Amino acid sequence: MNPQKTVYEKQASLAMEALRRNRMAAYYVPTAAEVVPLVRSLLKAGDSIGVGGSVTLDQTGVSELIRDPQYRFIDRYEAGLSKEEVNDRLRQSLLADVYLTSANAITLNGELYNVDGRSNRVAAIAFGPRSVIVVAGINKLVTDLDEAAKRVKLTAAPANVERLHCDTGCAKTGVCAGYKGNMTAGCALEGRICCSYLISAMQREKDRIKVILVGEPLGY
Ligand code: SF4
Repeated sequence: MNPQKTVYEKQASLAMEALRRNRMAAYYVPTAAEVVPLVRSLLKAGDSIGVGGSVTLDQTGVSELIRDPQYRFIDRYEAGLSKEEVNDRLRQSLLADVYLTSANAITLNGELYNVDGRSNRVAAIAFGPRSVIVVAGINKLVTDLDEAAKRVKLTAAPANVERLHCDTGCAKTGVCAGYKGNMTAGCALEGRICCSYLISAMQREKDRIKVILVGEPLGY
């Protein structure tokens, strides 16, 4: 057995116990190749599906899976959509049967931590879609919420800003302008991607949120 893989499994196991205590369903798969069959088993033909922007969903093949005609994908990426049409699809996604996304960080205490610019993703995670499926690489695991906030400021947000070509403080330096400050400290530029901060802790609706941890680094 690969020692690093063994460590990933043990850490994922700790996180899954905590997520289950917080009334979220939790799964572990060792490789990205095992994500699509698991996600498929959690979907039904005819489901409407919305997504949060996610490199992880692309890397694991989930973005391709949900374009299967047996599902009703609310395609926010369709070529030629106007800004208003994209916004309409983001709103429709809030009432989807299933919402697929990754997370910015998952703590060993069983919390999901997500930070959004437009806030459509954190809104859907919090309420609306009947089922939320979170796919996250092992690199998203952190000890606690302080480390989660640091992860966004030093890793997730700067990388997403590069990917999306946003005009932000971290685009200039590679770290959040507020990296020495509190959770919400940051730049004051219009392109800021850190505007709404969501911590998903114990859930009233058991297993509405399903977390798939993958024993490989994925996304940012
Ligand atoms: S607040 Fe601004 S500088 Fe800080 S991570 Fe977010 S976008 Fe980057």
